[in-house]
Amino acid sequence: MSLRDLPSVERALSTTPAQALRERYGHDWVVGMVRDCVEEARLSVRNGAAAPSVDEIAALLEEKARRLVESHPRRVINATGVIIHTNLGRAPLSREATEAMTGVAQGYSSLELDLDSGRRGSRQDRLQAILRRLTGAEAALAVNNNAAALLLGLSAIAAGREVIVSRGEAVEIGGGFRIPDVLAQSGATLVEVGTTNRTYASDYEAAISENTAALLKVHSSNFRVTGFTHSPGTGELVELGRRRGVPILHDVGSGCLLDTRLYGLSSEPRPQDSVRAGAGLVFFSTDKLLGGPQGGVIVGSEALVGRLSRHPLARAVRIDKMSLAALTATLLHYVKREAPRMIPIWRMISASPHEIGERAARWREAIGGDAEVSPVKSTVGGGSLPGETLDSWAVVIPGAGISQGARGIARRLREQDPPVIARIEDERVVLDPRTVLPEEEDAVVKSVREAVL
Ligand SMILES: *Cc1c(COP(=O)(O)O)cnc(C)c1O
Repeated sequence: MSLRDLPSVERALSTTPAQALRERYGHDWVVGMVRDCVEEARLSVRNGAAAPSVDEIAALLEEKARRLVESHPRRVINATGVIIHTNLGRAPLSREATEAMTGVAQGYSSLELDLDSGRRGSRQDRLQAILRRLTGAEAALAVNNNAAALLLGLSAIAAGREVIVSRGEAVEIGGGFRIPDVLAQSGATLVEVGTTNRTYASDYEAAISENTAALLKVHSSNFRVTGFTHSPGTGELVELGRRRGVPILHDVGSGCLLDTRLYGLSSEPRPQDSVRAGAGLVFFSTDKLLGGPQGGVIVGSEALVGRLSRHPLARAVRIDKMSLAALTATLLHYVKREAPRMIPIWRMISASPHEIGERAARWREAIGGDAEVSPVKSTVGGGSLPGETLDSWAVVIPGAGISQGARGIARRLREQDPPVIARIEDERVVLDPRTVLPEEEDAVVKSVREAVL
């Protein structure tokens, strides 16, 4: 094992694959990739591996080049049973939403043109009318995501002043997104009240001063505090806010417009309930339980939403035309009262264990071998309904006796085209049909047969 055995950059460049790649992508790019390959080989030789031959370096180079031109993100099949899977792009869109999006992507659109008058229009008008109707709010604004919605809201309403938050709600939402940090970024000062488990309206009241810009309520979407707990309801805070002339800002998180209790789940705060209770601004994501594209929505009073629309950050976080088209189409499913049937995540949530069991049995039949049908739990995921599960059935493949066990099967499933993402439980690969779209079923069966070798 010696570094002297390592092929030089010049030798690797002179191989047939490297020459072919050079034709296609140009000299500089290929030289860069060859250098990376040789450098990687050098590191592994230092760590005790054998020096690769020049052909092995060339193969590495081809693999790198293939990766380079692969599109990203790629379509994958979600067989994990986690419905809103953040790593897998959260909510899949309905057919109508997808068509609306590709329509405006492929051509020009009436994004900021009023087709009646021929004059300049607002990209938000249609969406605002729909959101007003769905939530009962006076005004609405759509932005890039809920994090942006909060940052814009706090910057426009509270910069240079104080915002009162319960100690139990000054939390991390995920991916390093923390309420105290967003408040600091907006220029507002966080005033924490109460304790981690118990906070009363009187705690908020005692902290109100002439410098208070708002009371902020944050839904604890990804964790649950149980036992000896208390937090005031939105209505109670609104009452206090009215008395003291302070608006209530409510981050409800998942944008759930339907009643989750009808689906055997616990209750998730709905934007329309918060509006009805009198919150000044309500914030939510559009790609969680709303079932649409990435986006954030703010609904609330005309006066407060108006301040957000006029703030310079509004332009920086505005929604793009493709998300706008997909979001509008998704919301129209709610207007037409067809959301549970037409929006994929709601079809997944409402699928009966019986129906899923039948799909699992069909898969098992087609897969054969050691595959079994077994009862499992699906989850909603996406930082909503923590700890809640839906009864489901899955095809389960034992890892024992198969090359590299359950991990090996899962890896080979990811290498399929399209990649299939499964979950591993007790050394077994679990494939839950709940999150697999009907048109993806044949591909799952085919991939599993290839991966179980
Ligand atoms: C998910 C979530 C956010 C962040 O929303 P994004 O749309 O992902 O930016 C903020 N607040 C709460 C309560 C959430 O659940």
